[in-house]
Amino acid sequence: MQPHDEDHPESQQRKHYFSPNRFYCVETICAPCGVVIAWTKFAKAESPTNILNWLASVYPNIESRPDYICIDKACQVLHTAVTNGSWNQWKLSSRFIVDSYHYINHKATDDLCRLYCNPSPQDGSAPNLVGQKIDQYGTIHQFREFNTEACEQLNAWLGGFESILKRMTQRNFNWFLHTMLFYHSKYVLTKINKKQSATHSDDSEDDTEL
Ligand SMILES: [Zn+2]
Repeated sequence: MQPHDEDHPESQQRKHYFSPNRFYCVETICAPCGVVIAWTKFAKAESPTNILNWLASVYPNIESRPDYICIDKACQVLHTAVTNGSWNQWKLSSRFIVDSYHYINHKATDDLCRLYCNPSPQDGSAPNLVGQKIDQYGTIHQFREFNTEACEQLNAWLGGFESILKRMTQRNFNWFLHTMLFYHSKYVLTKINKKQSATHSDDSEDDTEL
């Protein structure tokens, strides 16, 4: 029995609830279309080392790795990968780039970031990231080839459930989040299929101009 005026011991407070004190954050990997590929929880900190270890576990083989991996702190992850030697493997298949939402906050003076992690270099050096189109007047327009902010958009959507998730036991939290992400992915796929069958001819609708 605990006296009412005594502070609750921390272990008692946290025993039954998922708490941000125990798990710093939920991490997600999703495709540019919005389909969720993987999720996990990082204990305490979202460190570049944690990110690299998780990426290596989700993509154990070089063949399975994406060409581009957008991370809000891609330059730090790249720095760590170079330092710990894992870049020797990653560089064979992938590039770490900052998503365009966060890139504006990265230092313009950070040469490593500007050179290797720019999500939309406009010097023609990354045609897989930045496409070009010529309009009827002969003017060239550059556009993003794919959405680098898909995870950010997913996080914003997940944020709406934060207050519910915070009150759940860890087991319920895991189940609820997994189920939500599963149905979210099904919803995204259904939307894509509907759109594809509705608009065979026009594939330029979603291009994002730079
Ligand atoms: Zn950076």
